[in-house]
Amino acid sequence: MSVREREIYDVVGVGFGPSNLSLAIALQEYGPSGDEISSMFFERQASFGWHRNMLLPSATMQISFLKDLVTFRNPASTFSFVSFLHASGRLARFVNNQDFFPTRQEFHQYLEWAQARLADRIAYGSEVTSIRLPGEGQGPQDRLLLEVAGASGAPARVVEARNVVISTGLAPSMPVGTERDERVWHSSEFLEKYRQVDPGELRRVAVAGAGQSAAEIARFLYDDLPHAEVYAIIPSYGYSVADDTPFANQVFDPGAVDDYYFGNELTREAFWRYHRNTNYSVVDDDVIRELYRRSYDDEVRGVNRLQFLNLTRVTGTKRVSGETRVSLQGGPDAVVRELAFDALVCATGYDAMEPAGLLGEVDRLCLRDEAGRYRVERDYRIVTDPALRCGVYIQGGTEHTHGLTSSLLSNIAVRSGEIAGSIAARRAATSRGETSR
Ligand SMILES: Cc1cc2nc3c(=O)[nH]c(=O)nc-3n(C[C@H](O)[C@H](O)[C@H](O)COP(=O)(O)OP(=O)(O)OC[C@H]3O[C@@H](n4cnc5c(N)ncnc54)[C@H](O)[C@@H]3O)c2cc1C
Repeated sequence: MSVREREIYDVVGVGFGPSNLSLAIALQEYGPSGDEISSMFFERQASFGWHRNMLLPSATMQISFLKDLVTFRNPASTFSFVSFLHASGRLARFVNNQDFFPTRQEFHQYLEWAQARLADRIAYGSEVTSIRLPGEGQGPQDRLLLEVAGASGAPARVVEARNVVISTGLAPSMPVGTERDERVWHSSEFLEKYRQVDPGELRRVAVAGAGQSAAEIARFLYDDLPHAEVYAIIPSYGYSVADDTPFANQVFDPGAVDDYYFGNELTREAFWRYHRNTNYSVVDDDVIRELYRRSYDDEVRGVNRLQFLNLTRVTGTKRVSGETRVSLQGGPDAVVRELAFDALVCATGYDAMEPAGLLGEVDRLCLRDEAGRYRVERDYRIVTDPALRCGVYIQGGTEHTHGLTSSLLSNIAVRSGEIAGSIAARRAATSRGETSR
């Protein structure tokens, strides 16, 4: 066998967004030197990218810069946002801004700076296509094989992992009956598609959705296309504000994960019932006000460039002689009508991470609850059949067990520390000859 076929790591990460980037740092900073936890991370994008297609010029973070990759776990880490500012020579000027919320463009620079310091552990342009068992009928399995596809034509790379950490992110969701095409885009592909079109061809554009991305795109299109009419297609009566007041914000504290995880069904339901509006289908106050101001100023000037179609949903699209015809159901009588646009952006959200397809045959060893959801330990490890001793951890897809921070950045520093600690503890138990479960 060649050396490449026998690559074995303590940890293999699938996907390299902020979650696994935070984990890579936590592993590096974990425990005594000389007892390194070996790791390798695979990312299908050609280089690091965090929601690149939504890096709109004025878009800001929805969390404090102190909720970076490391600070809540290790405030002394050299991978903090403050360390990045210091290294970039911008610390004093950033502080003069007196603002907790940097732009997403600046946060992206921070993430790029951090990942560049871990380059030896990351393979870009590398998609994990399957995870499988090394062999059946050979007793408990303490490793998994991951098949990784690289550049087209190159043979697949196969690596062995004692622990796998899946962090493949959210899956874009389109309205029912709507397919993407050259002029129907999901917000996750927005800037890339937008830049491919001559702005002069975009005279009438629409944005569907009532969340932060929808409002940001509507504002961007209004400003960037001064000749165009912009339609905001909103299922509610108007944008609702994101509650980021201090008491509500506590749902994103690290301690809230314990309250959720060890809570009963009633307490968990209370988190969702009372605090959905901290994150889901809501918009930051300043963005709402800026949009309203634009529409009001238009009215004063006697123009009508920004239109809000309230209580309205997209029910289908078709392309007819160069036009995108969009079926809309809405208004007080819920009638269906058709409007033509030069482009439609569906900022209609995402589905939770679902790793079953990637896990393939391994998935049948991952235990589920009565509702068919993964059973997940407090340390983010999926509960597995005793025949599987290899740890399968997930970052994302744990809303039902760990609560609202599951797909967000708020808790990634602490979560990564917990996962790194769990992996180290299990490894120590194994080397003492104990069965780690
Ligand atoms: C526009 C936008 C703005 C946001 N802003 C905030 C914010 O301000 N605050 C906040 O808390 N949350 C925010 N979020 C939520 C978002 O989920 C987190 O910011 C963050 O992206 C979660 O990181 P992640 O690493 O778990 O997932 P992702 O960032 O989605 O990264 C997953 C990575 O896995 C890769 N991948 C997928 N499948 C494979 C595979 N089979 N093999 C290899 N690689 C694979 C993908 O290419 C991707 O790079 C925002 C979301 C969006 C869409």
